Amino acid sequence: MEKIYDIIFIGGGPASMSGALYAKQMRLTSLIIEKGEFGGQIATTSTVENYLGVGTVSGKELCEKMYNHITDLGIETTKEEVVDMDIKGTTKKIKTDNNEYFAKTVIIGMGTEVRRLGIENENKYIGKGISYSSLRDRDKFKDKIVGVIGGGNSAIEDAIYLSEKCKKVYLIHRRNEFRGDLGLVEKAKNTPNIEFVLEYKPLAIIGEEKVEKLKIIHASNNTEKELTLDGIFVAIGRGLISEIIDKDIERTEQGYIVTNEKMETNIPGVFAIGDIRNTVFRQIITGCADGAISALSAFNYIKKLIKDGKQS
Ligand code: NAP
Repeated sequence: MEKIYDIIFIGGGPASMSGALYAKQMRLTSLIIEKGEFGGQIATTSTVENYLGVGTVSGKELCEKMYNHITDLGIETTKEEVVDMDIKGTTKKIKTDNNEYFAKTVIIGMGTEVRRLGIENENKYIGKGISYSSLRDRDKFKDKIVGVIGGGNSAIEDAIYLSEKCKKVYLIHRRNEFRGDLGLVEKAKNTPNIEFVLEYKPLAIIGEEKVEKLKIIHASNNTEKELTLDGIFVAIGRGLISEIIDKDIERTEQGYIVTNEKMETNIPGVFAIGDIRNTVFRQIITGCADGAISALSAFNYIKKLIKDGKQS
């Protein structure tokens, strides 16, 4: 007979890891399925300064601490890609590229994926000057000139992180107001080798074999100019991974999964947590809180299933 977990978490970010920790405390069995790096977006964040109790840490270090915490407790994890889900019954089936897993509840915490610019030559130069991760690629641009595109916390943090190794960093943003935290903006402004290029949008990437220049256009007067640089770091936010999510799960117009305050979706026994749900604030701490709440909701749901004789 197939093993039936109490909970399967899809996605291995902080929200799911926190959920699995709380589930363990409630004596529920769980499996976390992650296709990439455990920690999700945080694993590629250079520095985390706003997670209580850990001071300033690298995203990678914080992810490792979280991962070690849960695996030391015996929580099961697997690195596989979910390709399909059958989640309407009282036993849910999750199909991955390698296996089929069964559970009484499913908690979706797949987060989001990096967004691309969609400009000329972008795809051609990935790995040849175009990067979506300063953490992974910074060392390739030691003493070089790079551009960071975006005006959110990711872009500003990337610019600061890159400035420690690169000769010069252009922070290119399409408006003159930043979406990111003021403290970070101040820090970037006070970094001598960061130059702000505001109200410019990227237009095309120019180069023979690799990135050599970035053509940009002024957001209001349409003046074009070219920046000579060796690398471009794209940090313009994240989009939703949606193809494998059951079509009947209710979503917002933007595609986020609709939940109530218990993290319940419209499908009984299916919950959503972290960046993929319709929340107002997407942070590590809010994701972890979602995870904890979802574990309690799953516990109550399973208790009722058992009481009603629908599961053992
Ligand atoms: P974000 O906050 O959504 O910012 C994306 C930025 O990219 C915006 O400034 C946006 O410009 C710009 N942009 C979007 N599409 C663009 C395009 N096609 N061309 C040029 N620019 C474009 O994304 P994020 O910085 O990745 O942050 C995502 C979430 O994670 C946020 O909630 C953020 O606070 C959080 N985060 C937190 C930390 C931290 O607290 N340490 C670190 C990283 C991320 P507009 O402003 O004009 O829309």
